[in-house]
Amino acid sequence: MSDFPIDFRESAKAEELIDKLASTPRLFVISDYDGTLAHHSTDIYGVEVNHDSIDALGAFAQLPDTFAAALSGRHLDGLKQVFPLRDPVMLGGSHGAETEGEETPFDEDMQRFLERVGGELEAIAADYEGVFVESKPFHRGLHVKALAERNPQQAEEALERGRAVDPGEYFLTEGKNIVEFSATTATKGKWIDAERQAVDATAVVFLGDDVTDEQGFDVLNQPTDLGVKVGAGATAAYLRVADIDEVATFLQALLTARQNFLAARQ
Ligand SMILES: [Mg+2]
Repeated sequence: MSDFPIDFRESAKAEELIDKLASTPRLFVISDYDGTLAHHSTDIYGVEVNHDSIDALGAFAQLPDTFAAALSGRHLDGLKQVFPLRDPVMLGGSHGAETEGEETPFDEDMQRFLERVGGELEAIAADYEGVFVESKPFHRGLHVKALAERNPQQAEEALERGRAVDPGEYFLTEGKNIVEFSATTATKGKWIDAERQAVDATAVVFLGDDVTDEQGFDVLNQPTDLGVKVGAGATAAYLRVADIDEVATFLQALLTARQNFLAARQ
């Protein structure tokens, strides 16, 4: 039996993990957005964000030898509509396929794939009230959250039909109440690997709530790095927080510890 994940409420152990992170030479704090910094909502642009978490991320990015990023399944433009921070806070969108300030390659094969899959998913969505297809630059996703709240069995049926759509040589991923097709091999894990090298981080903390965030936890070298899983469910992360309010408590505690470490170092 693994001793991990540690529950954030086991405060002595959680404090130890936070102090260790805070005292690394170059710290990189990366957070998922939906379900981690903000509540999930059926209105994807009307989500309620936790301001203490946003304040902490903004503050990390202002500290020396400390870096901060939001890394979301949303496309970059969509993320920017709901996430208020900008440079020096880094932004990754479309599960890491997009990086703020960088060009993203896109070819005709990808375009054709997205058109075909988008059409098939639209045909499924048309059969259910409250089911819709989200189009992102590299993804087409079938969303069933509104239907799942009313009729879980029908929502499962819609997801099942979505899973049956052929991804060809591309990819299908599943999240909470969504089946998503992707025309890119980008993952949150690859984004974290690339960007941690870019900032030359000596420790990375990544926070996320969904199954796609496990690809992020998988590339971490815990316990020097730290994965923080939000909510229930199997995870490779070494720390678990209960909800987005505890994310804020964690980030504020890490910020204070980091500020103290940097002040003592001078
Ligand atoms: Mg999430």
